[in-house]
Amino acid sequence: MSDVVLDVEHLSKTYELGKRHVQALSDVNLQVKRGEFVSVMGPSGSGKTTLLNVLGCLDTPTSGRVLLDDVDVTKMSEKELYRIRRSKVGFVFQTFNLLPYLNARENVELPMECVGKPAAERRRRALELLAKVGLAERAEHRPQRLSAGEQQRVAIARALANEPAIILADEPTGNLDAKSKHEIIKLLADLNLKQGTTIVMVTHDQQIASYTERMVYLNSGRITREKQGTLAGRKKHACPYCGGKIEPGDETCGTCGKPLMPTEEA
Ligand code: ADP
Ligand code: MG
Repeated sequence: MSDVVLDVEHLSKTYELGKRHVQALSDVNLQVKRGEFVSVMGPSGSGKTTLLNVLGCLDTPTSGRVLLDDVDVTKMSEKELYRIRRSKVGFVFQTFNLLPYLNARENVELPMECVGKPAAERRRRALELLAKVGLAERAEHRPQRLSAGEQQRVAIARALANEPAIILADEPTGNLDAKSKHEIIKLLADLNLKQGTTIVMVTHDQQIASYTERMVYLNSGRITREKQGTLAGRKKHACPYCGGKIEPGDETCGTCGKPLMPTEEA
């Protein structure tokens, strides 16, 4: 297993709208290493969702290559893609996409049912994952009885169910109030830091992105620049703003005072 989970080469995507061509992605090159937490930033219409959908095998590129765990997914049949999607990728969406008639535990069990995991094992793992996202007490609640932030936690637990190589999240904090937004980014950063979960998150929220490891900027379908986020500093024990010494768990830098994680006031 190489340490690159996602290797994107010369990726382009054009949508044909009648006589009009929309170039959603142009020659995108991106590598994501195992254990990295990358955020993809950019204004509305810059190609973020298109990129994430192609990375997650929900959409096919016009040209270029995507290697997921060393496998070229751009050459695969629908059937193979379906298998890859459910075993290699965990999705988190802006609108949570939980099934309303299933409770939290059943929602988390669903992807495991798809791969034929025995019922007792599914249940055990679902409860374990719900505990991990801080919802042990809410396992039997249906989505309508959960807050928006709690629903997104369930969706994150569900995304982790089949131990995917990578989590792809499209604006996961887009429908949340400030407090839940910060709880969710903290949870994702925590999963990345402590469990080594590889994450690519799309967001147009500069502040949320700043708490990830690496920010990649998309503009008109092209990657224009990259920047380090606070998680990179936390992993390297050095503040990304001033270089001062920090511990991975520090919420603010002791030297420059800048926030390294969302704080109560932030
Ligand atoms: P973002 O997520 O950054 O807002 P998108 O990836 O959704 O951007 O869209 C990038 C561009 O591609 C936009 O110009 C959008 O209108 C266009 N686009 C996205 N999906 C489709 C589609 N299914 N058909 C035609 N054009 C599309
Ligand atoms: Mg989008």
